[in-house]
Amino acid sequence: MTDPFVREALLQERSGDRIRCLTCERRCLLKPGETGWCRTRTNQDSTLVTLIYANVSTLSANPIEKKPLYHFFPGSIALTAGSWGCNFGCPWCQNWESSKSAPRQGRYVTPRRFVDLALDSHCQGTSISFNEPTLSLEWSLEVFRLAREQGLYNTFVTNGYMTAQALDLLIDAGLDAMNVDIKGDEDAVRKHCKGVDVDKVWRNCCQARERGVHLEVTTLVIPGVNEDEESLRGIARRIGTELGGETPWHVSGYYLAYKFHAPPTPLTALERAWQIGKDEGLEYVYLGNVAGHRLENTYCPDCGRLLIERRGLSVVQNNLADNSCPGCGRAIAIVT
Ligand code: SF4
Repeated sequence: MTDPFVREALLQERSGDRIRCLTCERRCLLKPGETGWCRTRTNQDSTLVTLIYANVSTLSANPIEKKPLYHFFPGSIALTAGSWGCNFGCPWCQNWESSKSAPRQGRYVTPRRFVDLALDSHCQGTSISFNEPTLSLEWSLEVFRLAREQGLYNTFVTNGYMTAQALDLLIDAGLDAMNVDIKGDEDAVRKHCKGVDVDKVWRNCCQARERGVHLEVTTLVIPGVNEDEESLRGIARRIGTELGGETPWHVSGYYLAYKFHAPPTPLTALERAWQIGKDEGLEYVYLGNVAGHRLENTYCPDCGRLLIERRGLSVVQNNLADNSCPGCGRAIAIVT
């Protein structure tokens, strides 16, 4: 019987008996029978196939604040799906149960079924998340087209390492917003994420922004990896100069996971990261994974008025008036 999770991969290029995968910037060149770095794509009978089409490991309706996307339909719910595998090797992965294993048998959810589930559960949008969503490119494209037809928004929570070609396809299909994880400076990302070139991630952030995709950036602040002033300042500066000072930056607390055993990020380190972001001119910097902290809220960058109060994943109050500060009238960059 044909395996329903196996489908011809969309982006591939033949080179003799080898095939280059063009889904992500690892650009694996695969001999017959060989599987790529992420373990989700194989050269099978001279064709590159994905092994995880419609293979859903995790499915849940989540507040958009969980992504986190704080400036995109605040208080809305996105039906969120993940699959298996990752193209990064970060040893601190907080979703390692699904991202670090070879594809297993998940639930078979067709794009049509996924969009119907989103509508049935009164979601306002979709999100592909948990493991690296780029690896579900083929399925995501179909989901996005169908979801957009139904008036739903589409989001990705990603390490941003897809090829420019894959990103263009996602945007053409209806990608509305992304949260991209910037994990550190060039050396830290190359070393810890196993050979990754972080400049490609920055390139994709710029490309997404130029094409009108709403973008927010997350940095998991990890002791011994990126919590030093130079790393954090470098990230904040690049967000400001390349993506714009209105781009939200989430500095999130890390917890012990997978193969990394450093102690959890102290609150003081997150607050210091917040200050660095503000010093570099970023207008919206948020603390993550510290429920109840005042720096989860949105304040007006001009007059300091409380605009959106959050508690964990909930919006407690939203005081915006026509996307402007009700105190001083300043326009606030929030998609609604
Ligand atoms: S998606 Fe997987 S197989 Fe394709 S280039 Fe990236 S790591 Fe390699």
